[in-house]
Amino acid sequence: MDKNRIEERLNLVEAFVDDTELRQNLQEDLLRRFPDLNRLAKKFQRQAATLQDCYRIYQAVNHLPSVVQVLDRYEGVHQMLLKAVFISPLTDLISDFTKFQELIETTLDLNQVENHEFLVKPSFDPNLTELREKMDDLEKSMQSTLNQAARELGLEAGKTVKLESNAQLGYYFRVTCKEEKALRNNKKFNTIDIQKNGVRFTNSKLTSYNEDYMKSREEYEEAQNAIVKEIINISAGYVEPQQTLNDVIAQLDAVVSFAYVANGAPVPYVRPVILEKGNGRIILKASRHPCIEVQDDMAFIPNDVTFEREKQMFHIITGPNMGGKSTYIRQTGVVVLMAQIGCFVPCDSAEISIVDCILARVGAGDSQLKGVSTFMAEMLETAAILRSATEHSLIIIDELGRGTSTYDGFGLAWAISEYISTKICAFCMFATHFHELTALADQVPTVNNLHVTALTTDETLTMLYRVKKGVCDQSFGIHVAELAQFPKHVIQSAKNKAMELEEFQTTGNSEDSDEGPAAKKSRQEKQDGERIIAEFLSNVRALPFTDMSEEDVKQKLMKLKSEVLAQNNGFINEMISRPTVSA
Ligand code: ADP
Repeated sequence: MDKNRIEERLNLVEAFVDDTELRQNLQEDLLRRFPDLNRLAKKFQRQAATLQDCYRIYQAVNHLPSVVQVLDRYEGVHQMLLKAVFISPLTDLISDFTKFQELIETTLDLNQVENHEFLVKPSFDPNLTELREKMDDLEKSMQSTLNQAARELGLEAGKTVKLESNAQLGYYFRVTCKEEKALRNNKKFNTIDIQKNGVRFTNSKLTSYNEDYMKSREEYEEAQNAIVKEIINISAGYVEPQQTLNDVIAQLDAVVSFAYVANGAPVPYVRPVILEKGNGRIILKASRHPCIEVQDDMAFIPNDVTFEREKQMFHIITGPNMGGKSTYIRQTGVVVLMAQIGCFVPCDSAEISIVDCILARVGAGDSQLKGVSTFMAEMLETAAILRSATEHSLIIIDELGRGTSTYDGFGLAWAISEYISTKICAFCMFATHFHELTALADQVPTVNNLHVTALTTDETLTMLYRVKKGVCDQSFGIHVAELAQFPKHVIQSAKNKAMELEEFQTTGNSEDSDEGPAAKKSRQEKQDGERIIAEFLSNVRALPFTDMSEEDVKQKLMKLKSEVLAQNNGFINEMISRPTVSA
């Protein structure tokens, strides 16, 4: 919640957003070479580390000079900051680890590391030297058995047939599955196993050499035990700088990753303007959901978000299922969170007052089957929200009161909304299927109604995903039932019943009071607009695309579009004038 710290993080992210080469060097190359340093440090702490773990730390520290070198090349406005946060601590760490690096270089047999064996240098002890010589001789002999085997099999040593080793089996031959027929029915060779990357096998000579080799290696490991213990003990003394190294690299990783997503999104993210807590403003222009917009084949429709203290603090969002309500309110929570962790945000512009928490009740809407327990969970979560929210919080509620009777559910939704909007006075977004809740806007001036809507034609329901002012004046449930081919008399009976109960709808419509006395005209305009759009869509659908050139299609679409525009319908004009994401 500290504005200075957030700005500092944003500055760092900005440095990596602006300098493409710096970002790519770190993201695509250098940072990938670091192991999980935190886990390693814990292993040393628990005294469970191995010689290999010492080598991992050694390797990580060896990469540090390249990281510093790349960071040093940055010459933008945040140079000093980069120096203070990354370059200086990393340079200090390089010198903290000097002795450690020397220790590993003098004790670890780096020649054997290539074979994934982590052993102490033979020169350390005459016993080790002797064993190493024996093992080297055995390796040579095994190499010549490979050449011999290759001749017998008619394959090429080192290419089509290889000598390989691992900790478990020691040495073995391997051919790829393609060459496997050379082995078939050959009694001289014994197959060990068959895997995706080929057949592992051996012969009597190799087996006997390998047995000797494995025995020597065991002796080697035993002989080096005391030395290894000592190395690990000394390394464990470096737990503290290991943890510092982890912290610095982790922060660099996070900041570079933020810059990477900011730059890689379908539309690049922008730096949010952060306002001190209590400023009472969250204004997002053309905001998007960072996860949904990156889905395949997605043309995400951006939407604005406006919260202003004393003016608009509580948004009730209604509209058809799948209309984009959850997405809209979740993206608001996500964008505010992203801004506060110092990340750029998926918007055209964003002004965000720091919030003291983001409280969310989302996700159980679809689990009515779980019945009472879901409802109980919902109530417990909501109770926690009501207890902990302050006037500086952001609350996101996605459906509430589904798991009980309509009256109970509505009663609770109303009481909770009223409490939040009049007592807690937090910023809140509430997506609900209770249209009746929209009447709260008449009682509480800071409550605002928003809706998403859909376009209906005889056989389709097209979601518009555009969040607009006012109440959704149409219910789409029965339409969906029609699409699902309910029997006609059931549909009719549903319509009749809905009509009986719909007394509220009239109140709901007059709610669209933004237009004042012009409300009726606006409704007429909307109906006309929807008709025009439906006609446009069916004309487009009727075009014989497969027989047309791209140019023809373009022209035809332009013509259809100009016909729509020529009708000068207010509803359509408003829809077209709003921002959209370009392909
Ligand atoms: P609701 O909460 O109203 O039932 P959702 O928010 O779950 O609806 O949206 C349903 C689906 O619609 C999403 O999974 C997404 O694929 C699509 N969608 C939602 N909002 C948008 C948008 N602004 N632009 C494009 N597609 C969207």
